[in-house]
Amino acid sequence: MKPFDYVRPASVAAAVAAAAQPGAVFLAAGTNLLDLMKGGVSRPDRLVDVTHLDGLDQIETLGDGSLRIGALVSNADLAHDAEFARSYPAVAEALLSGASAQLRNAATVGGNLLQRTRCAYFYDTASRCNKREPGSGCDARDGENRGHAVLGWTESCIATHPSDFCVPLVALDAMVEIEGRGGRREVALDQLHRLPGDTPERDSVLEPGDLIVAVRLPPAARGFAAHARYLKVRERTSYAFAVVSAAAALRIESGMIVEARLALGGVAAKPWRARAAEDVLKNVSPTADAFQEAAWRALTDAKPSGDNAFKIELARRIVVRALTLAAAGTPARIPALPASPFAATSGADHA
Ligand SMILES: Cc1cc2nc3c(=O)[nH]c(=O)nc-3n(C[C@H](O)[C@H](O)[C@H](O)COP(=O)(O)OP(=O)(O)OC[C@H]3O[C@@H](n4cnc5c(N)ncnc54)[C@H](O)[C@@H]3O)c2cc1C
Ligand code: SF4
Repeated sequence: MKPFDYVRPASVAAAVAAAAQPGAVFLAAGTNLLDLMKGGVSRPDRLVDVTHLDGLDQIETLGDGSLRIGALVSNADLAHDAEFARSYPAVAEALLSGASAQLRNAATVGGNLLQRTRCAYFYDTASRCNKREPGSGCDARDGENRGHAVLGWTESCIATHPSDFCVPLVALDAMVEIEGRGGRREVALDQLHRLPGDTPERDSVLEPGDLIVAVRLPPAARGFAAHARYLKVRERTSYAFAVVSAAAALRIESGMIVEARLALGGVAAKPWRARAAEDVLKNVSPTADAFQEAAWRALTDAKPSGDNAFKIELARRIVVRALTLAAAGTPARIPALPASPFAATSGADHA
């Protein structure tokens, strides 16, 4: 492994200054970053360990009713916070469908947002990969690509973003608080990750030194708690990244959908908000026909990037299923197999 400096700043301001140097990266739990370093995929000159910074491990309700989640809160602590799971059940379900219990205990909120793609060619330093080595080519394009993107991809890169957590967050209009060299700013999560264009080496809009300090869910996000689900198709039911996933959240009043939120995972380089599909679901009854129409709209622009046309049809079906489950009502408890299409139907009591 390439030698690197290790620093552990005492404050957010010092961390930002330390990471603004060329070749520096933040280290949170390291469950993604250290794997990348061991494989020679990531070769930083300096690790800026942020795990001991004060004040970034809190979950707090703010005066306006929004929820602020510190960047160092672990995925497990967040998912198991009873009030959080009650108010944002699809987010808790997504968290519990990701990785393993051990990984969730360590992995942080900030690290989950910024984890890198799982494209196998990105991890294999013998392969050509524009994301790892700009201008080198993309071996996935003519390679093993059944898991790759069907939305927003370019010839430069067809990778997907692997996070489950981000999918319901983007559906619920989450905001990301960032401390950078110019001070504090906010970016909608929907705008944090970049589509590849011709610069796939840049996953996000963050600049050197930018530290995610918190994620915020607006007050309106709680309004979907009664009808919210996350559904994830993976190659094995435990411990695998999504082939395709969907977060569906509905506000239903007097039998009518008054507002719908829908986002897809595993289909693009960012969590994919399906706004055109949401529009179809405004002020209609929650019927199978409406959900089919929404699913069709959500995937209108999809095209295969290789041997993955099946993902488009799969995504349509997952959208219909997630909307159907959401309309039936959030279960009293998160299913024993979170987000699995094989879990018992909505409303079941899983002891
Ligand atoms: C075997 C395995 C299976 C997995 N399965 C899933 C899955 O099914 N679903 C899923 O969603 N995830 C899955 N994951 C990914 C896991 O969720 C991530 O590795 C984890 O969330 C990253 O968090 P971390 O704190 O370890 O980040 P790190 O590895 O420390 O950092 C990841 C990246 O984020 C940057 N970073 C970290 N914190 C900040 C911050 N506050 N501000 C700015 N930059 C920051 C780092 O510089 C680095 O680039 C899996 C991981 C493994 C190893
Ligand atoms: S899809 Fe993207 S990450 Fe994968 S090899 Fe191509 S450029 Fe690299």
